Amino acid sequence: MDKTENIYFRLPDFSQNRFFVSPILGCEARCLFCYIYNHGYTTKYRENELRISDLINWLTNHEHFTKGKHGSLISIGAWGDPFPKNYPTATTVDWIEKLCELENPIQVISRFKLDIDTVEKISKLPVYKNQILFSTSISSFEKWQETDNFADSPFDRLQTLNYFSQFDIPTNVMIKPYLPGITDLEIDRFIEEFEKNNVKVCVVGVFYWEDKIVKLMDRKHLLTNEMKAIAENDKMRHQLVCNPNEGYNTFDGKNLDVFCEKLKRNNIVVFKNSTCVNAWLLEIEHPSKLHKNDPLNLCVKCGNCKN
Ligand code: SF4
Repeated sequence: MDKTENIYFRLPDFSQNRFFVSPILGCEARCLFCYIYNHGYTTKYRENELRISDLINWLTNHEHFTKGKHGSLISIGAWGDPFPKNYPTATTVDWIEKLCELENPIQVISRFKLDIDTVEKISKLPVYKNQILFSTSISSFEKWQETDNFADSPFDRLQTLNYFSQFDIPTNVMIKPYLPGITDLEIDRFIEEFEKNNVKVCVVGVFYWEDKIVKLMDRKHLLTNEMKAIAENDKMRHQLVCNPNEGYNTFDGKNLDVFCEKLKRNNIVVFKNSTCVNAWLLEIEHPSKLHKNDPLNLCVKCGNCKN
């Protein structure tokens, strides 16, 4: 990173026909596997110095941005959780409101809890049904205090999703990253908590890792034998859609498919790619037509891509 660059003024990132916008930059959640801390962001989050009016101008003038219901997908929260703990929600809610006026489909993701009044306020912002989707991410109910201790608990995250579903806003859980030897052992817990909180759709996402993350997990005794074996043998590099400039290896794990099958048997719709779940819930086409170029075999053939 160029030291003169102001990382607290961040224009949207664009990748595979998705625009990633971040009202808040930096994140206090300290998830072990997070990439933002490699880019100068810290646990001290700040509001993006980009004003929402300038963001709207930038988007509407971008050569690849298409406005409207069938236009570009906007994802909120790539470079910092949009709803930090004990922090006013006004800026993020204002951004969501102004972005809703563009009529584009919007995905919001957070690991923090929102009170029901804020959820109700956000739920009234869409200008048509299913314009907004609210997601959270959970890898473990048992080990979350070792992987993402400074976020709100998985139970609070699911409570927030439950509030959104009460207001008829689509929700989903990103089981991302799926941690082989940890997440799979908690399958019954996932099913039970999903049922309690009205979660019907999820993504089971492979773990994008690099050596630094592996070392951190090892120090915390989280590196299971299955992960070690993969780390030693798998040298494939893949790109995260929200951070396409860097390569990561992936942990998949032999039990991932078994885990997915059990979720499905319990009437949970399972995806393996977050853009797929966004497109399906927001009733839009997959922005990058993953099924045509799918080296990781992530298409679950949901039928949303017509050709
Ligand atoms: S058809 Fe495949 S690539 Fe298209 S949205 Fe569904 S799962 Fe994703």
